[in-house]
Amino acid sequence: MEINAKYPDKTYLYSIGTTKENRAILVLAISLIKPSRLEFQKYKNVKLIGNIHGDEAVGRELLLHFIEYILTPSNEDGYKILNSFMKETIIHILPSLNPDGFEHALQVENHQWRGNSDPNVDLNRNFPDYFMENDVPRELETVAVMNWLREINFVFSISFHGGALVVSYPYDNKNPISQSNPSNENLSDDDDVFKHLSKSYVGVLQQDAIIGQCSREEYIEPGITNGAKWYPITGGMQDYNYFNGVFELTIELSCPKFPEPTALLTYWNSHKDSIIRILDETRRGIRGRVLTINKLPVPYAEIYVKNRIHNVFTNNEGYFWRLLLPGSYVIKVNIPNVTTQFFPVQVPLNTGYVDVELVLNI
Ligand SMILES: [Zn+2]
Repeated sequence: MEINAKYPDKTYLYSIGTTKENRAILVLAISLIKPSRLEFQKYKNVKLIGNIHGDEAVGRELLLHFIEYILTPSNEDGYKILNSFMKETIIHILPSLNPDGFEHALQVENHQWRGNSDPNVDLNRNFPDYFMENDVPRELETVAVMNWLREINFVFSISFHGGALVVSYPYDNKNPISQSNPSNENLSDDDDVFKHLSKSYVGVLQQDAIIGQCSREEYIEPGITNGAKWYPITGGMQDYNYFNGVFELTIELSCPKFPEPTALLTYWNSHKDSIIRILDETRRGIRGRVLTINKLPVPYAEIYVKNRIHNVFTNNEGYFWRLLLPGSYVIKVNIPNVTTQFFPVQVPLNTGYVDVELVLNI
């Protein structure tokens, strides 16, 4: 909140809900323009989320450091990259999705508290699932995220966790028939994009200083993994995001979940470059606008890429962003009662977008 007051031209603080113990779930939106709910409908939006599990403190701290870094002018390359990234992007930072759980973790012995106010709740098993039935009561934090996704067209998202070192990409779950085979991956149509983004982050997880914090039993070969191959989960936030138009990765960034406060700055210094790199890598694919013959924006139009089931939607101003690696694609706009043709597009080799304007015969 102090940050919001200090940088009113670049930040907008908002709440996506309130927890059972009456704590606000606060998000800080940062951009070069003065962000507001109106601007959320015009710009590209990405989000970074920490502390879903009560005792996973590192992601929360990392994001607070990130906020400070992005708002404090410097000549560092990372700062310059982020500022150029923010010319068209609003970054939404949610340091703690689970403030109740964090308070409980602070108070209990060994800080072991995965749940929210209820120790038996796992927020990362609480979302609707697309492979298995997940008929559990939705927690307030879960409902807050579901409503958030309905309000804002996010393009990309990271969910930061602790307790291992790995970047995990969709899908996180698989259908009941293949559940019994633990070696089975369950890959999405956008596996190329997910693997590329995951690889752009992974370097930090292979640093000796980071691996050195892991005990023998905690140590997992650092790298990237398909979530369902690592271990399938039902009701995870990552799959829910992907099925609702958002590319989300889960990053397990430290073996200790609740390290000594003095260690937290070291984690930030180690992870900083990877966070900047992965955000920069999301400047890929198709950037477009859907318009009527009279050049009026078409909101909520569905953008379909042939052979990929993941659709994105235009925002209120008719803009959309669709992550894709370099190559040739054909896309189609779907809106009710209107037939449109497929359009060929060529996504450039270097980081950047192909810009398209799709004018519908309406
Ligand atoms: Zn976790």
